[in-house]
Amino acid sequence: MLSARLQAPPAINEPVLSYAPGTPERAALITTLASLAGTEVDVPMFIGAKEVRTGHTVPMHAPHDHAHVLGHWHKGTAHHVGQAIDAALAARRDWAAMPWQARAAVFLKAADLLTTKHRQLLNASTMLGQSKTAHQAEIDAACELIDFWRFNVAFAEKLYSDQPVSPPGVWNQLELRPLEGFVLAVTPFNFTSIAANLPTAPALMGNTVVWKPSINATYSAHFIMGLLREAGLPDGVINMVLGDPADTVDTALAHPAFAGLHFTGSTEVFQGLWAKVGANVAANRYRTYPRLVGETGGKDFIFAHRSADLDALAVAIVRGGYEFQGQKCSAASRVYVPISCWKPLVERVLPMLAEVRVGDVRDFSNFMGAVIDQRAYDRLTGRIKMAQHDPRCEVLHTGFDDRTGYFIEPTLVRTDDPSHALLRDELFGPVVTAYTYEDEDYEAALRLCDEASPYALTGAFFARDRGAIEHALGALRDTAGNFYINDKPTGAVVGQQPFGGARASGTNDKAGSAMNLLRWASARTIKETFVPPTAWRYPFMG
Ligand code: NAD
Repeated sequence: MLSARLQAPPAINEPVLSYAPGTPERAALITTLASLAGTEVDVPMFIGAKEVRTGHTVPMHAPHDHAHVLGHWHKGTAHHVGQAIDAALAARRDWAAMPWQARAAVFLKAADLLTTKHRQLLNASTMLGQSKTAHQAEIDAACELIDFWRFNVAFAEKLYSDQPVSPPGVWNQLELRPLEGFVLAVTPFNFTSIAANLPTAPALMGNTVVWKPSINATYSAHFIMGLLREAGLPDGVINMVLGDPADTVDTALAHPAFAGLHFTGSTEVFQGLWAKVGANVAANRYRTYPRLVGETGGKDFIFAHRSADLDALAVAIVRGGYEFQGQKCSAASRVYVPISCWKPLVERVLPMLAEVRVGDVRDFSNFMGAVIDQRAYDRLTGRIKMAQHDPRCEVLHTGFDDRTGYFIEPTLVRTDDPSHALLRDELFGPVVTAYTYEDEDYEAALRLCDEASPYALTGAFFARDRGAIEHALGALRDTAGNFYINDKPTGAVVGQQPFGGARASGTNDKAGSAMNLLRWASARTIKETFVPPTAWRYPFMG
């Protein structure tokens, strides 16, 4: 260990590259896409120092070209989860004993590798495997992940340096110990950055991890593991297991050394996992109470006041509702509009939707790719068809076709039923439902927005009138963990808008912030008295 008070390099947000025609990043990305498209990748599990191949393989397809096989992943069993837990527990002592700066250096190196050598590999694999456009891949797989790694180091440094006061004769210290056991990271398909952040944030704090990526994102997960290994992450610190989701996760949750769950995904799955952990706690199965962090679903809104700038509102609906096919937890999926603004708003939105191109993400003129798989396509088109036959709904723009890829056009529905399921349920696709309210029912509409859905992740309020903005901040206070004024409800940036929601949207531990990192530490207070008393009587007893 160095005899020095080290300071981590300051964190700054990674600039987003444009990929405009003629730029070097566009040329590099196109070359990487072509080289990946010509190879089938064999994805093993990573357990301790080993790459584990079971021979029981599952194909990975590109959602925008489902005949295109990207490679295969090796399916594991409960046995492999047990091995991964053993590997995590074996690596724990040395990793936890490392100075935090040494752990930080691994992730800072990973960030630098991602800004350079690995940038287009992670972007291209996210484009091909998850059907993101070049821009959506860049802001996720490159920039957000680089930011997670750099900012988490800065936040950890702040947490470690926050020490209690020490009166004369005493030195009080606060140590942030890793949790006693292993952390289980269970990650969603829709963000490569989240997939990597969920195992690495606890690891930065000295924990060792079993990571179960989404079946629909094993392709980019493979390249994340390659990058972390190149950055010098010791074997066993993060163990990636692949298998049946419920079996894999249940096996890990049942282990006595399970110490924390870092989950992002749907509300329903998180609620099921919480119940299982509760039953295991009641059965005294664990050595310690596990930490449960879950960022889950959303039914994110845009609420327009009659003073709203309609040009800005229209763009927020198109970008906030349909980018990445509406498969962002933060995507706008319900819009509240005063009836006086509806016609001019629709006159702005519909021409934009007519221009939006949906297709293969390797064609850079496309604004949207495909939804993630056949299940999502069937579920979403089923809801759209129901709306087409529902007298309470007017479908203003839609279209779908799954012959080549799982393509769904940006879909805009209007309803005059404020309790319609389309205003309540998370659909997780390119479907935006608008409710038009009478201008004089403004207060009631704010209440509807607050109460229509069980979620509280993101929300946006559009108004020019400052009084209306102040009022909405109060009226909609509990409806969103990330609230936007005159901006779309997507696109949170690490270090700028810490992200997470409450109610059915999660535990609101704000990914990419000190609040999240604290959940992966168990504080120990140490009091040292330099000259302890040697007589037991107090002066008042004289
Ligand atoms: P999902 O719930 O289907 O899957 C998430 C993870 O849980 C995956 O790794 C999956 O394999 C696993 N899983 C699925 N069923 C399981 C089971 N029965 N037992 C144990 N594990 C199981 O979610 P998804 O489709 O990958 O992602 C979309 C969801 O994630 C949406 O609801 C979205 O809102 C949410 N999300 C939330 C945030 C946020 O920050 N709040 C961010 C991204 C995504």
